[in-house]
Amino acid sequence: MNQRSPACLDVDDFCTVNRRTLLRSFGAAALLTATGGLFRGGVWASPVFAADPFSLGVAAGDPAPDGFVIWTKIAPRPLDRGGGMPRKAVEVDWAVATDERMRQVVQKGTATAHPELGHAVHVEVDGLEPGHDYYYRFTIGGERSRTGRARTLPPAAAPVAQLRFGVAGCQRYEDGYFTAYRQLAAEHFDFVFHYGDYIYEYRVVRPGERPAPVIRVMPGEPDEIYTLDDYRHRYAIYKVDPDLQAAHASTPFVMSYDDHEVDNNWAGDISAENTPPELFLLRRAAAFQAWYEHMPVRRALMPRGPDILAYRRVAIGDLVRLNVLDTRLFRSDQPCGDGIKPDCREALDPNRTMLGDRQERWLYDGFKNAQARWTVLGQQVIVMRKDRDPDPQVFAPSMDKWDGAVAARDRLFAAVEEAKLANLVVLTGDIHNNWAGELKKDFDDPRSATLGVEFVATSISSGGDGFDTDDSFKALLAQDPHIKFFNNQRGYVRHTVTPDRWQADFQVLDRVSVGDGRVSTRKSLVVEHGTSGLADA
Ligand code: FE
Ligand code: CA
Repeated sequence: MNQRSPACLDVDDFCTVNRRTLLRSFGAAALLTATGGLFRGGVWASPVFAADPFSLGVAAGDPAPDGFVIWTKIAPRPLDRGGGMPRKAVEVDWAVATDERMRQVVQKGTATAHPELGHAVHVEVDGLEPGHDYYYRFTIGGERSRTGRARTLPPAAAPVAQLRFGVAGCQRYEDGYFTAYRQLAAEHFDFVFHYGDYIYEYRVVRPGERPAPVIRVMPGEPDEIYTLDDYRHRYAIYKVDPDLQAAHASTPFVMSYDDHEVDNNWAGDISAENTPPELFLLRRAAAFQAWYEHMPVRRALMPRGPDILAYRRVAIGDLVRLNVLDTRLFRSDQPCGDGIKPDCREALDPNRTMLGDRQERWLYDGFKNAQARWTVLGQQVIVMRKDRDPDPQVFAPSMDKWDGAVAARDRLFAAVEEAKLANLVVLTGDIHNNWAGELKKDFDDPRSATLGVEFVATSISSGGDGFDTDDSFKALLAQDPHIKFFNNQRGYVRHTVTPDRWQADFQVLDRVSVGDGRVSTRKSLVVEHGTSGLADA
């Protein structure tokens, strides 16, 4: 505490401060003050704030038929170390209601925000009705958060007439505004699947330091981030964005992560900088803790040191079974030194994996008793073959994708065939463009069986304004006839699913370099039940 009431000389002293008195006695200076109030032992018992303690917003996540997680993180000065909070636990009240005005409260309680977790609060609400909208908010010391909307899933295995959800990710701060999130907030989706790259760990980039325009400059230390406080600060920069907050307040998110929550193109205990693995694991632990602190996820996803179990299943009635995959933590290191490589024999090594043995077994066992109409993989890196060299004589894929672990893809496809999955849909992100394609049993033979489809969602902002397509992308696509659609603009994908039909609408923004970009539907593609092929809507 930089400033405090004269009656409150130390945070461990017993003292009470009326917030109005505090504001009166310090005037404008008090606006910078976060704290006052009564401290008992390790608990800040009657907090008073001179700035909004809910500056990082609210969020809901991991919906189930009977509830969801509600999240917030107490931070009156979000960009300061510790978020402007004293190193004390503090109690936060929460309530869930059936109406937006919070009159019909159906659940309420008190959660403790601990300094060990950066004063994050994750409440697992249960006992709610399936398939309903709910509203939630938090209060602390007389301060009230905004009201968020969440929605429970339909009853397990029950018929579902229609599901509407969004897919988003890759939101590099410097590259543009999060306007796509403002548009997404207006959709009132059942949920959003976030495939990762919620933050980027890179050093601060200023205008002129790279060829691409820098739309927003991040505050703070200029270096790449490594420590828990570094990652917390980076999340705070992102989390105060009003469009991102609007999206979270509009619908529950099913969160995953990709590389940039930790380090570019990390794989297991291998970093892109070739840091000794035992040191990289320290960084991974800090990154995972900060991720957990800022995400509306269940306690089951709390990391233990450098480890986390983030893969999980979400059943949406009898309609969709969403398998959220982790393609970073258990994978083999990228072959042939990563990058785009022709003739990489190492990529064909049968021992290579993207999911690790245990996650593979969990996934394929789940296929065997798939009760849902549509089997969905929500994951990070592109599954379908994708040549990155426009020369027709050269096949050079990216070693970071499933093309860098061909045997792992073959095992996945064999498990899909063995389980006779009729409707496989893969949801992907990572490459900052929109793509749609068919998953071929043999990508060299366009007449071979189509096992499913893949929809790759573009970025929220990463890559900047972009463009629809150009000659070099057209040349690439000509080499991969299973790829049916490409677009290089920013946005999100809206999926509308019924028992008979899956429709993907690629929502793109004309610009993200300005705050008022306009959204439009660039393309709508459908899959009819049982066909596994893509068609124009
Ligand atoms: Fe990204
Ligand atoms: Ca080529």
